[in-house]
Amino acid sequence: MYLDQAKTVVIKIGSSLLINDKKIIREKWLSEFVKDIKHLQKYNKNIIIVSSGAIALGCKKLKLNKRNLKLDKSQAVASIGQIELMNLFKKKFNLNKINLSQILITLEDTEQRRRAINAKRTFENLFSLGFIPIVNENDSIATSEIKYGDNDRLASRVAQIAGADCLILLSDVDGLYSQNPKIDKNAKLIHQIKNIDEYIEKISTNSTSEHGTGGMKTKIDAAKICQLSGCYMAIANGLINRPIKNILSTNLCTWFIPKVSKLDARKKWIISSVSPKGQIVIDDGALNALKNGKSLLAAGIKKVNGQFRKGDHIRIIDKNMVEFARGLSSFTSDEISKIKGQHSNRISGLLGYETKSEVIHKDDMVKV
Ligand code: GLU
Repeated sequence: MYLDQAKTVVIKIGSSLLINDKKIIREKWLSEFVKDIKHLQKYNKNIIIVSSGAIALGCKKLKLNKRNLKLDKSQAVASIGQIELMNLFKKKFNLNKINLSQILITLEDTEQRRRAINAKRTFENLFSLGFIPIVNENDSIATSEIKYGDNDRLASRVAQIAGADCLILLSDVDGLYSQNPKIDKNAKLIHQIKNIDEYIEKISTNSTSEHGTGGMKTKIDAAKICQLSGCYMAIANGLINRPIKNILSTNLCTWFIPKVSKLDARKKWIISSVSPKGQIVIDDGALNALKNGKSLLAAGIKKVNGQFRKGDHIRIIDKNMVEFARGLSSFTSDEISKIKGQHSNRISGLLGYETKSEVIHKDDMVKV
């Protein structure tokens, strides 16, 4: 099963799982959910949790009604609620000795390569430090035009950026049904979806998820992003205790199957930008290292052509001026001019600040 085999898993939990209609925090549920996470950790999975709840918990603290909030007020409320949310998580997860970190993301962070690459590295470093990132949208800063507004699509972008194998959207329904199960007794849960065709679009518009900003529509949008990122996605019922254990044991949910492999998706993302902004000429030693799947280090760089910024798409050329690969640069062209030919341990001395050592990371490179 997809979740079993996944190395990196993103789990999205909606506000309605954390706080009920009477504005009571579902402490017991959260304690059980923590056990689910502990279970996944035992199998050495990298985990990211995307959690809503900042606005709901902010409203609870201020005794406000979420429905009547204007945007500017809701931004202040989210800023108040986010700390409540993290305190709640910290209290529950610490009891199980699970370390947490927090990342607040805006739409721009996920859409701009440079920031997306940075976010990917941060996730990787947090995994190797043994911390679980809790992600939410930076609601206090994002304005309506540049806002996800729902954490379903945000979670799918996070899954894409982190190179996750699997995204679980924990909702208040079991998944996508052929008809509305609240009205029609013959409604059947759809277990697997390969193609989001007109039929799926139609039934997802008709079905409702009671709470949350998203409903089914944003979950289908999230599935489309996942399908093109090589990531399996499930819509599953989060209201029950131990929802992850339930997926593992019953597989009762709707799975969306990716259309491309993760590797192909990433390669496409790397070279999908506008034409390359510059080129790096490398020596034979570096060429061999790259052929063996290594990252490009400064030591093997002979020359840099063109002006580019961090995260820009550039060509990697051998000494005979033959293009070997394309990649996303972790340094600007000016920085590379200063560090080319130098050993990695001299980079911070030459630039005057700490940086990464790979000029182009192997994961950000596609051989042509
Ligand atoms: N980011 C919002 C919050 O933390 C929730 C968005 C959503 O409901 O999907 O309150």
